[in-house]
Amino acid sequence: MVDKRVGCDVCGKSFHSRKRLEQHTRSTHTTVNKNNVIKAVKKPFKISNKLIAVIAAGALIAIVGSIATYYARDHAAALTIDGIGCNPMEQAVFHIHAHLDIIINGVYFLVPSQVGIPSNCFYWLHTHDESGIVHIEAPMHKDFTLGQFFDIWGKKLSNDQIFNYVAGVNNPLNVYVNGTKVPDGTNYRDIKLNAHDEIAIVYGSQPSTVPTSYTFPEGT
Ligand SMILES: [Zn+2]
Ligand SMILES: [Zn+2]
Repeated sequence: MVDKRVGCDVCGKSFHSRKRLEQHTRSTHTTVNKNNVIKAVKKPFKISNKLIAVIAAGALIAIVGSIATYYARDHAAALTIDGIGCNPMEQAVFHIHAHLDIIINGVYFLVPSQVGIPSNCFYWLHTHDESGIVHIEAPMHKDFTLGQFFDIWGKKLSNDQIFNYVAGVNNPLNVYVNGTKVPDGTNYRDIKLNAHDEIAIVYGSQPSTVPTSYTFPEGT
């Protein structure tokens, strides 16, 4: 009889029968299977590595987020408004003053002190007292407007409204600059703040007189 030997693909050993070879493969080369098993075990390990990476990324995002929140809260005052910055120091390159009167149904509304001066900086438009003097103190020569001052103040001003007072037929809203009524069609928000301007915003019933000028402190 011809010896029909069969060889092992793994180690090259030859066997008398296929059954023998199969036995050999099972008993001798189980390491192959074990490796496969190990590989199979490694797979979920790799997934868990990915999981760790995802968790780490999530933690990083959370940390960055909380830092950003902290930074935003701490530096909220530094946000620009209408392109107007808020600097830790008062700016002196451009320093002029205008005066603002707000007359609601004949009664003067006090413009508060510290408008545009949050805890840690100075907006280029601000007030230092209740005189109605608006300080324009900017790092460059530039036109600034009444609307910008109201935006920094956080109050509403349009041609139809000041604060919560809405203009109507019986409650007109007019603005006077140095005693001259601003013509219809002019956007009140665009009124330029010039040095020593006296700006009077008049809502509702007319006062007996509208201020035409303001006596600024000497040297200001
Ligand atoms: Zn100032
Ligand atoms: Zn000033």
